[in-house]
Amino acid sequence: MHILVLPGDGIGPEITEAALTVLRKLDAHLALSLTFEQADIGLASLKSRGTTLPADVLRRVPEADGVILGPVSHYDYPPRAEGGVNPSAELRTVFELYANIRPCRSRTDLTVLRKPMDLVIVRENTEGFYADRSMFAGPGEFMPDRDSAFAIRKITANACSRVAKVAFDLARERRRKVTAVHKANVLKLTDGLFLREVRKVAEAYSDVTLDEVIVDAAAALLIRSPDRFDVIVTTNMFGDILSDEASELTGSLGLGGSINAGDLVCVAQAQHGSAPDIAGQDVANPVSLIRSAAMLLDWRGRRDGEARLIAAAHRLGAAVERVLDRPEARTRDLGGSATTTAFARSVAEALESLQ
Ligand code: ATP
Ligand code: MG
Repeated sequence: MHILVLPGDGIGPEITEAALTVLRKLDAHLALSLTFEQADIGLASLKSRGTTLPADVLRRVPEADGVILGPVSHYDYPPRAEGGVNPSAELRTVFELYANIRPCRSRTDLTVLRKPMDLVIVRENTEGFYADRSMFAGPGEFMPDRDSAFAIRKITANACSRVAKVAFDLARERRRKVTAVHKANVLKLTDGLFLREVRKVAEAYSDVTLDEVIVDAAAALLIRSPDRFDVIVTTNMFGDILSDEASELTGSLGLGGSINAGDLVCVAQAQHGSAPDIAGQDVANPVSLIRSAAMLLDWRGRRDGEARLIAAAHRLGAAVERVLDRPEARTRDLGGSATTTAFARSVAEALESLQ
């Protein structure tokens, strides 16, 4: 399996190095024939090549069997015309990575929750309320005069339907419940269309229960009754916000894995952002990207019928859990004092003892 590695900005290079440390160890033990190819994107390539996403890097994406993408700090990017493309948004749209899959599972020793959380958020990843995903030629936000601003929210039946199928398929492997999170009471047309498509897909899955929750209530229920959720399907921005909330509730934003998956390409990317406030200090929690990498192996394994990759993903997940069991081995965000590098080393050791 050939993996294209794009470290990104902020804590990106540190957590990517940590992920590579554990993947190399996994490869050494399980003979997965993993190969890695690294390329600069983000602020690093802006400096050297005048763009945050060079065209040749983009071309290499579909040639690889999977991509590991570090977080990108697009706040610091210049306008698009000056090379400041948001690499993660670009990859999602160009390769139609329409489902962003974000599992969040609590552990009693790390969570503030009184009830267990074990859910997956399936977020529509190509449209919604995002300025650069508009169907209109210009940007999805505009100002008709200097004191008014508008944003366009694009929702299509096709995008809702395909992401809903991912959610229902996933639910079949889990507790057979899908919750559609929406705001159709206010956004009657856009979220109305989203709900219509989710309901339509649900008809083909009579063994899966569908319920519908308004997004503000969902934000509260994630805290009060996280155990009522199995798979959540929702539009782009709601999914973005709720997954940060859910991940933090499990113990830290640095914990939740995430893949951006289409029919052909899969990009593993941490749930969190580039965390510029702690960049370069070797204190970031690499778990989110390590778990994302495990999800990538699992995705590829399922697609290609490669049981070894699926087993490797399980083993990596188990090694992470084992390290998290030890309070002193945890990173600072979880109350520990381990560095990013030390955490990765512990996971590599745990992989050895799991033989
Ligand atoms: P971006 O614009 O890239 O999203 P941000 O400023 O919003 O950057 P986030 O990365 O979203 O920052 O992080 C929000 C907060 O959570 C920050 O205070 C950051 O330090 C913390 N955080 C995020 N990821 C991690 C991590 N992996 N380990 C430890 N702390 C993290
Ligand atoms: Mg952020």
